[in-house]
Amino acid sequence: MEDLIVLENVTKRYGKITALNDVSLKVKKGEIMAIVGPNGAGKSTLIKVSLGLLRKDKGTVLIFNKDPFYDPSAREKIGVIFERPSLPVSMPIIEFLSHVSKIYNKDFNTIKEVIDLVGLKGSENKAFSQLSAGQRQRAAIAHALIAEPEIIIADEPTSNLDPVERNKILDLFLKINKERDLTIIISSHVLPEVLRVSSKITIMKSGKILKVGEPDDIVKNISISRIRCKDPFTIKDVLEKNGFSLNIEGGNIYVKTEDSEKTSKLLNLISEIVKNGQQIYGIELIEPGIEEILEG
Ligand code: ADP
Repeated sequence: MEDLIVLENVTKRYGKITALNDVSLKVKKGEIMAIVGPNGAGKSTLIKVSLGLLRKDKGTVLIFNKDPFYDPSAREKIGVIFERPSLPVSMPIIEFLSHVSKIYNKDFNTIKEVIDLVGLKGSENKAFSQLSAGQRQRAAIAHALIAEPEIIIADEPTSNLDPVERNKILDLFLKINKERDLTIIISSHVLPEVLRVSSKITIMKSGKILKVGEPDDIVKNISISRIRCKDPFTIKDVLEKNGFSLNIEGGNIYVKTEDSEKTSKLLNLISEIVKNGQQIYGIELIEPGIEEILEG
């Protein structure tokens, strides 16, 4: 597949801070690429440099084979969505999108299709200020789609939303990717939520790319088991004696295992613990977060 975005050995400094440190990355047509990392990792800077909104200090940035800093026409086929979208506050969404569609020579059908696609049908006559946070994000996605771009870049599009809305917005990106064959880049500081929807994941920390891979490669066999029990501290001692590393939060014990062998050893040990009379209310496997991946 064709590389739509190429970064090679890109460095970007803000004075003494190196926000991107020799970063290389390729985004292929049709991918949903998640850029994941803690706050301050350099995700926004990576996005701004990729769009040519910031000048890199070193390296090569190409979108559709053009350097977007020197040739802004490279950005024409890209729709951008920011964390807190700001569209005109009191104008009905449909009216705003009509104005936008005129700029791009699109007809009313395009607007109707886009409103349908993003799930704003029935709310299109509301003003931006009357919409919920999730609907605002949908309006911003509609805005980005009107020009019929080939790439959508969304900088932390879920960080301002509640968990249910976060998943709905991520599902919407997945739908757009499938139905419109759009390449999508999403940044996030929450690894588990993007594992489900992305085809590739880039893990960043302190301005560096630490890992790039498919979700399964990134998570590998790392598992986090949450054990709900009556007496976490007694069970903690048994687990630690058997070489497991863990954390206790509330009445829960969180145990990280690096491979399937260790996970099954843990499950066997838990069953021994139960036979010996300890009360365990439940055990479940949860998706690992960025910290566990970076440590693991
Ligand atoms: P992220 O999006 O992952 O939170 P950023 O790209 O916003 O990371 O920031 C990367 C680093 O660059 C951080 O240390 C941040 O404080 C710094 N930084 C970002 N923007 C600026 C700026 N305009 N001026 C100075 N430092 C900045």
